[in-house]
Amino acid sequence: MKTYIGKSVLKGIAVGRIYWYHKQTYEVVKTQIADSAQEQKRFEDAVETAKEQLVSLYEDALKNVGEDHAMIFEIHRMMLEDADYLETIAQVIEEGWNAEYAVETAKEQFAEMFAAMDDEYMKARAADIKDISQRVIRILAGIREDGILTDEPVIVVADDLTPSETVKMDKNKILAFVTVRGSSNSHTAILARSMNLPSLVNTNLELSEELNGKVAVVDGFSGEFIVEPQEELLNEMIRRKNQWIADLEALEQLKGKDNVTSDGRRINLYANIGKVSDVDAVLNADAGGIGLFRSEFLYLGRNEFPSEEEQFKSYKEVLEKMQGKKVIIRTMDIGADKKVDYFNLEPEENPALGYRAIRICLDRPEIFITQLRAIYRASAYGTAAIMFPMIVSVAEIKRIKEIVEQVKEELKVEGYPMKDVELGIMIETPAAAVISDELAKEVDFFSIGTNDLTQYTLAVDRQNQKLESTCDTHHPAVLKLIEMTVKNGHKEGIWVGICGELAADTELTETFLNMGVDELSVSASSVLKVRKAIRDI
Ligand code: PEP
Ligand code: MG
Repeated sequence: MKTYIGKSVLKGIAVGRIYWYHKQTYEVVKTQIADSAQEQKRFEDAVETAKEQLVSLYEDALKNVGEDHAMIFEIHRMMLEDADYLETIAQVIEEGWNAEYAVETAKEQFAEMFAAMDDEYMKARAADIKDISQRVIRILAGIREDGILTDEPVIVVADDLTPSETVKMDKNKILAFVTVRGSSNSHTAILARSMNLPSLVNTNLELSEELNGKVAVVDGFSGEFIVEPQEELLNEMIRRKNQWIADLEALEQLKGKDNVTSDGRRINLYANIGKVSDVDAVLNADAGGIGLFRSEFLYLGRNEFPSEEEQFKSYKEVLEKMQGKKVIIRTMDIGADKKVDYFNLEPEENPALGYRAIRICLDRPEIFITQLRAIYRASAYGTAAIMFPMIVSVAEIKRIKEIVEQVKEELKVEGYPMKDVELGIMIETPAAAVISDELAKEVDFFSIGTNDLTQYTLAVDRQNQKLESTCDTHHPAVLKLIEMTVKNGHKEGIWVGICGELAADTELTETFLNMGVDELSVSASSVLKVRKAIRDI
């Protein structure tokens, strides 16, 4: 038995076997080979295997996520038949070099060519070329595919996980996450919370193949990760896990009840989502609406921009499922920790202070317009609201409103039915909080993003696990900015909510009520816990 300590991101207990998720990287080495014909045959066999993998990925995706998402695997299979690409590789092999090197050469050459194109669609093909080439290189090098290979649900241990890796995993196969790196405010931690998975980050664990398959316990109350617990302890932890589940079930009786304090003060309690399928949990938790739809998750874990049609279908489905309850869609916040190859973002010194969210949207309006068109088209199917992330100035809102007007005008001419849509902004930079009196004149609502507001106010990188103890989420500076934002919003007659993780912190529920916060939006798994806290006041 061995016990490790991590930082808990959700109070709960998981018991199960360990699965070590690791990205096997492979450094391509250039070597001279004696028999080019044999090497060419080795390459052709690898391409055949790659195509077989892609066919089965296509079929799985078709069953699980539908044709739109599955199509990419079919496109990849077809790219592996591209004559120019195959010819380039054959030539390098012919010159006497190994197949891995030949594929790497073609990968670089074609990816560069696509990335340099003006057309966004063609630009995005650079990521596909990289993807298919890496698949062939992995096969040539005998490296197994990433992904969870067991059928039984497991405790996933990893060095670190990016949001795109997390969204790609099959949730039904995961009991908990335990990572060596990562911080409790990272998006992966937020995802773990939204999935109600007791998870640990910043765990002092040494990763090795030996962990695979061992029985372990994740204790999200104490932050302990116990590998191969003794029988007595294991039984005790199973008992505590069952108690945790029973406590969650006890909260169920609060479904259908008001979010009202004993002295009659009310507050809206909404939920945050990242994907269409999260709506079921929101409905199940009896949330009043969706206070934050992190739409960038529609852009993650794929190789090309989601089209207007694809996005429209997703927003429409969410709005229809919510049956008239409000759905606040946050326009995409790509950048910082949420990276996607096909955006071709340049490496940055300080990504959190960089080219991200609304900054990308205003700089590359074609991306923004596609998303706005999809949202406005979907607005006819429910009660949609839009909010814009990372705002720092009035000028940004003025520009956004011009683009929104242009989009609405075009859709009207094209004959699409639309409904009125509230327009709000996230208050997640100190600049926005400080000028919230001016910003309030421009919009219908504010939603305070405490994750970023805390990071920027305290100058604490939310991704940096070393700064966990410096990151005082109850810091008076953050609370003062929240209070100031609520006051300034109310002065102009607009409502103010909180959608960052702090909204679910029940130690602050009363403080937020006293400040006059109108809405708290939390992960679906926290809705009933917060409702209880409100009703206990
Ligand atoms: C926030 O910053 O608090 C927020 C809700 O947005 P995100 O966590 O997606 O950055
Ligand atoms: Mg944010």
